[in-house]
Amino acid sequence: MNAIHHVTAMSGKATRNLDFYSRVLGMRFVKKTVNFDDPGTYHFYFGDGSGNPGSIVTFFPWERATQGVRGVGEIEETWLRIPQSALGFWAHRFIELGVQHESITEQFGRKVLRFEDPDGMKFALVTTPGAETEEAWEVSGIEARNAIRGVDSVTLTVQDSGPTASILTDVFGFNLAGSEGGIERYTVSEGSGVGEAVQLHPVGTAEAGRLGRGSVHHVAFRAKSDAEQAELVEKLSKQFGIQTTPQKDRDYFRSVYFREPGGVLFEIATDDPGFAVDEPFEDLGTSLKLPKFLEPRRAAIEGMLPALG
Ligand code: ZN
Repeated sequence: MNAIHHVTAMSGKATRNLDFYSRVLGMRFVKKTVNFDDPGTYHFYFGDGSGNPGSIVTFFPWERATQGVRGVGEIEETWLRIPQSALGFWAHRFIELGVQHESITEQFGRKVLRFEDPDGMKFALVTTPGAETEEAWEVSGIEARNAIRGVDSVTLTVQDSGPTASILTDVFGFNLAGSEGGIERYTVSEGSGVGEAVQLHPVGTAEAGRLGRGSVHHVAFRAKSDAEQAELVEKLSKQFGIQTTPQKDRDYFRSVYFREPGGVLFEIATDDPGFAVDEPFEDLGTSLKLPKFLEPRRAAIEGMLPALG
């Protein structure tokens, strides 16, 4: 099965991003590193206590980024899983901490609490049967029983759902689980855990979005190993004529990228080696980690990055 591995977005100020995800949402800050392709920019990773694949949301914070413009061919919303009993806690917390949110609705049989992060990225907390048994991270003010478990799904804005659906079903093994309010939900198999679904929102002809803060840059799907990743790459090429990038070593996983027919950037990331590869598990996220090829430039890079206070 090839559920979601992580979701990567663009944010504004690094300090504000770090505060929102680690304190307000209570996710674990599992890695402080830089954008390997642009080392003057941080790359922050947040997840559950172990940084398990599927729990991860990552950000490239740009201090002076302009606001993204929403449109077709991008991810419009990211759903995060909470236990059913945690909904009241979060509704109260959002009011208390002034988090922009909507009233609770219901979709695909689950309660949905929509909110925005400080950069206008759209999220929803969704109650999920069984989420209480999934791994949690406890922070001050958020007990483990209420903690966010990780990504549930992403919703893609596309012109037509057909071409994107084919990639989800034929390459990654998702199946149509239901359709509601003009949105189709595809799951790897309902109840399989974090990252189990993708929603498609077909809107017909519409303007393309423009990346900026609050925009999602890409979604990554899981591959158990290099061998499984290679199989998926071959399937994409043989069945769809889609060529991926060569494999890139992201230190915590190895990735290939491609643009799916609906215009959204997809990644296939390996489960291994994970976030404890370059620092002890207890210390995840506490110091700036750099890939080997950037270590010689550490002093210059540290000088360029904004202070985190
Ligand atoms: Zn990625």
